[in-house]
Formats: sequence, C-alpha cells, structure tokens
Amino acid sequence: MTGVLTAVPYDEAIARYEPVIGLETHVELGTVTKMFCGCPAGFGAEPNATVCPVCLGLPGSMPVANRAAIESTIRIGLALNCSIASWCRFARKNYFYPDMPKDYQISQYDEPLCTDGRLDITVDGADFRIGIERVHLEEDTGKSLHVGGATGRIHGAEYSLVDYNRAGIPLVEVVTKPVPGTGALAPVVARAYVTELRELLRALGVSDVRMEEGSLRCDVNTSLAPPGAAQWGTRTETKNVNSLRSVERAVRSEIERQAAVLDAGGRVVQETRHFHEESGLTTSGRSKEEAQDYRYFPEPDLVPIAPSAEWVEQLRATLPELPSGRRARLQAEWELSDLDMTALGNAGALDLVAETVAAGAAPADARKWWLGELSRHANDSGTELSALPVTPAQVARIAALVGSGDLNDRLARQVLDGVLAGRGSPDEIVAARGLAVVSDDATLLAAVDAAIAANPDVAARIRAGKTAAAGALVGAVMKATRGQADAARVRELILERLGQAG
Ligand SMILES: [Zn+2]
Repeated sequence: MTGVLTAVPYDEAIARYEPVIGLETHVELGTVTKMFCGCPAGFGAEPNATVCPVCLGLPGSMPVANRAAIESTIRIGLALNCSIASWCRFARKNYFYPDMPKDYQISQYDEPLCTDGRLDITVDGADFRIGIERVHLEEDTGKSLHVGGATGRIHGAEYSLVDYNRAGIPLVEVVTKPVPGTGALAPVVARAYVTELRELLRALGVSDVRMEEGSLRCDVNTSLAPPGAAQWGTRTETKNVNSLRSVERAVRSEIERQAAVLDAGGRVVQETRHFHEESGLTTSGRSKEEAQDYRYFPEPDLVPIAPSAEWVEQLRATLPELPSGRRARLQAEWELSDLDMTALGNAGALDLVAETVAAGAAPADARKWWLGELSRHANDSGTELSALPVTPAQVARIAALVGSGDLNDRLARQVLDGVLAGRGSPDEIVAARGLAVVSDDATLLAAVDAAIAANPDVAARIRAGKTAAAGALVGAVMKATRGQADAARVRELILERLGQAG
C-alpha cells in the first residue's frame, strides 16, 4: 500500500485524521573521554585513530563508566523535571552491524536513569506540555561509509569503510511520551519541542547540539487515526532527521502519506522510514515487524549506577537558568509583549539583543536594530542574524552614538553599512569618513548664511514671522552638509539670523 498512492494535501489529511507524534532525540555528550574507556571523545581525528581495546570490543577488555557522562545525564533529567533512579543498570542490546565492534551496544533498557518528566513549549500562543518518558545513557556506534553506489547506502555499493572513532562516545537518548491533541499544529509542535530541547541542552553545556554534524539527531514517530477512534493508529518511525526544518517536514510528509494509505482502505505498516532532504518525502526502511529481538540483558561487566540523594541534589544546584525561565525574565526586564518576544525568538535574535543590552544599549534600541536594519541585511544576504559580521558590542556603540547626538539615524545606518563591509569599528568609520553630526556653530553658520542668500524669498517670509517656512532652509543646509548637520541647531541658527529667535 505504499509508493503508488498520491499523498493527500495536508489540510485535507488533517481535517479527516488526528495525528499523534513522538520524538526520540539522541544527544552526543561533550565529555572529554568516551563512555567506557579513556579514548578522546572529540571529532576530527584520522579514521580509527581514537580507539582502544575497550571501544573496539576486543576479548578480555573491561568497560568502566564515565562519571562525567552520568552527571550530564542526571542534569538533563533534572532540567526536564524527571525522577532520577536511585539504582539502575546498563543493559546489552544485541544486534549485528559492522559499525558496532562488540556486536552489542551498551545501553539502558528497563532501568533508565531518568523517567517521567516534561518540557513545556508554546506554539502560536498555545501551550503544550510534552511528557518525557525516559532519559537514558548509552554508547554511540562507529560510522560506515558505503563507497561506489549512487545513494550512499549499502545497496549498490562496491565496498564499505568503517571508522570506529565514534564507537563508545556517550550518547543520551531523550524519549517523549506520545503527544496527542496537537491537531494541525503537529509538525510545528514537533519542531518547537526539538528547538526547546536543544536550547535547554545548550544552556546545560552538556553537548554542542549541532544537528548538521550529528551531535543532535532525531527520530520522529507519527501516527494517524480517525477522530474519536478507540485507539491511536499504527506509528512509523522516521530516522535521523537532521535539521529543525526537516523535523517539521518529516511529520507533515508522514501525515500526508498515511492519510492516503488510510483513505484507500489500507493499513499503515509499522516500520522505520528515511527522510529525504531534497524531496521532503520519506521512504520505507526496515519493517519493524521483522525487527530483531535485541535479547537485552543486564550488562555483567559494569556495576549498577546508584546515585545518592545527596549527589543528585549537588547536581541540581549546578543547573543554570533554563531557557523558559530566562525568556520570562528578559521579557519582564525589557517590558515586551508576547508578540514581541515571539518575533525575537523567530528571528533568532534573543541572545543577540541580550548581549547588545549587556553592552549598554537600551532594550528598545537593541531590539530595533536587530529586528529592523540588521534583519534586512540578513535577509538580503541570505544569512542568519548571528552570522552577520557585526558584534552586539558594535551595535550597542552605534546606538550610544545616536543617543549622544553624534550620529543621526541616517548616519548611523551608513556607519553600520561600513561595519558590515568590514571597514572597521563604528568609531573608526566615523573618524575615517567624517560621518559625525556637525554641530559646531562656526561651520553651521556658514552653511546657514549660504542657504539664506540662495533663498531670499523664503528668508523674507521668515523675517515677516512665518517661522514654519524655516523647514525649507533647514532642508537646504542638510543637503549642503550631506545630512551631517545637527538639524535642531540649524533651525535655531536660521531663526536667530532672521530675527525670530526666542
Ligand atoms: Zn577506547
């Protein structure tokens, strides 16, 4: 029932079926060493350079658990409001795959370290509480490279290479409970959850959470059922979705595909599926109905983990301010509406504004620069705001120069253009290009007298008391000074010269 059916348009699919989603997120921890040996856990080494008998699974080698990885996992569990097990064990997950040197993975099965938590998110003004089923600790596998085929998969390849550097790197898996009740927002809720989880992990400092490099990867579960059905539909599991945008697209695509299967009277097959970035579609992977029995059993070479209440409380005390609390605090401090905060979040500008404020700018100014002029530059150049070649401190400096009257808005934009073009700091550009506002009377008077001489009719009207006509002369002076004159002072000087002062 797959492949030949045409997907149902999203709005129609969601009008007929209720989706339930679930997310399994794998997080590579940023520890110094691997999970069960002393090999370096970083990336970038030559293939098979950071390996030893333990992570290669050689006979007789004995694993020892990495304390820092256990601490990171407990901190993640605490930040997600989980219960921390007072006693739990690692388990062997047995399966055969060439990139897994031991032919089993040390993981956790029925005794995870953290259980029953939650993460709250907001989407389009609606709050969703995402239940966390479990947070457990395991080791990563190695990496296979299939050479010679068209797809990069093993089918059709001429040969395969294996790099075991990654084998044994500590990996935390965060598994949500099924999330019903999202309706049409299911794809957006999935994306918002992964975004919030990534922010939380970044705040904890436990991982570099780079999706494009695989240190954060997602499996997305999706099922559909008719509204009011007695039970949820059969779910599929889309593997290794590696960007936030893809999380959203994968859920959407599965809803459209499954709706077509159900509309045709078919049944959704429980299986893993692969997401394709180019097409935004999923294709069938291995069928879960043929899935191996992993024959889990407690890992006999490792002692149980039994965190004392005291240790857990010590770790709780190390938790930083979490993203949701920080957002609430900044919103109150900056006196912003919910809409303003959402706009900052959507633009990826929250941290930039916070750093600009920390560098001395008023919150309203910082927000104005990042959401206005700088967002336009980012859009025009197709980059992220954070990738623009300007620092929050430089933006704060430009705002300060406007505040002190040294720059007006037009000159400030020219200075910003100079910074973005790599011509130096704001002060260097002001000095080099003479961009500061001109406010010394001697220079301004010369321009004022020239404007009066060139516009005798206007001058006569002002002399006769029509002070509103001064605007035309101010404009002439601004033009003559290329916009750099202090307009308010120019107006005062014109009125003085023509006998209308005070
Ligand atoms: Zn090793």
